[in-house]
Amino acid sequence: MVIKMRFIADHDLHIHSTVSPCCHDENQTPEAILEYAKKNNFRKICLTNHLWDETVKSEAEWHDGQRFCCVESVLPLPQSENVKFLFGAETDMDYNFVLGISPERYEKFDFVVIPTTHLHLAGNTVRTKLLTPEEAADHWIKRLEALLKMDLPWHKTGIAHLTCGHIFKGSVPDVIKLLPDEKLYDIFTDCSEKGVGIELNMKTLNLTDEVKNIMLRPYFIAKDCGCKFYLGSDSHKISALETVKENFEDIITSLDLKEEDKFGFVMNE
Ligand SMILES: [Zn+2]
Ligand SMILES: [Zn+2]
Repeated sequence: MVIKMRFIADHDLHIHSTVSPCCHDENQTPEAILEYAKKNNFRKICLTNHLWDETVKSEAEWHDGQRFCCVESVLPLPQSENVKFLFGAETDMDYNFVLGISPERYEKFDFVVIPTTHLHLAGNTVRTKLLTPEEAADHWIKRLEALLKMDLPWHKTGIAHLTCGHIFKGSVPDVIKLLPDEKLYDIFTDCSEKGVGIELNMKTLNLTDEVKNIMLRPYFIAKDCGCKFYLGSDSHKISALETVKENFEDIITSLDLKEEDKFGFVMNE
C-alpha cells in the first residue's frame, strides 16, 4: 500500500496589509506578516491587497485605495532565507462581470486571487442588495461561471473564499445548501481542467458537524473533480494570525488532503 503524504500547511497566499482600505490594524505590516510566516514555518506567502486596476472601466465606483499605485506601494517586500514573500493582489468582478485587472497589470503580480463571492458590495459586485438565499446562490454560480469563461493565466490565479461570510447577510449554509451537485461538478471540472487554484480559508474549527458537512460539500466535489488547493488566511489584522495555522490543519484534516492535492503554484520555484 502506498501511503500518501498529508498536505503540508507551508504557505499562506491570501493576506492583506495596511494598504487595503478595509485593514484597520496599523501593525499589519509586511514585516509583521513575514514574522508570522517564520513563526509558522511557512515557505511561501503572498500579499494580496485589494485591487481595482484604474485602467479597467467599470460602471461601479471603486475605492481610490484599490488603484495599482496603492497596491504597488508595498514594494519591495521584505524577504528571509526560508520564506519567499510574493507580490499579489485580490482583484474583484463588478456586476457586469468585468474583472478589475488588465492583462498588462496581471503580469506585474506573482499571483492574483479572485473572489466571485464578494456579494455584500451592493452597487459594485451586485446591483442591489441580495435579499434571499436563492438570489445569493444564483449569483454564486453565475459569477463563477462568468469568471471561468475568461482567458486568464490560471496557473498563477486562485479563486478566493468560495464559502465566506460575504455571500449572504443571513445564513451562509442556507445558500451553500442550494448549490446543486451537478452544477458544482460542472464548475469544478472546468476549474480542474484550467488548473486554477481553489482557496481554503474557511474557519472550520468551531463549526458543528452538521454545518461543517454543508460548508465542505463544494470542496469535496472540487477534490473529486481533481482540483488543486492552496491555503489563504485572508487576514486583515495581526490578532487574526494567531489561529491561522490551527485552522489550516483542521481544514486539511476535514478534507483529508494530501500533498498531491496541492496547487502547483505553491510547489514551484
Ligand atoms: Zn475577499
Ligand atoms: Zn481578502
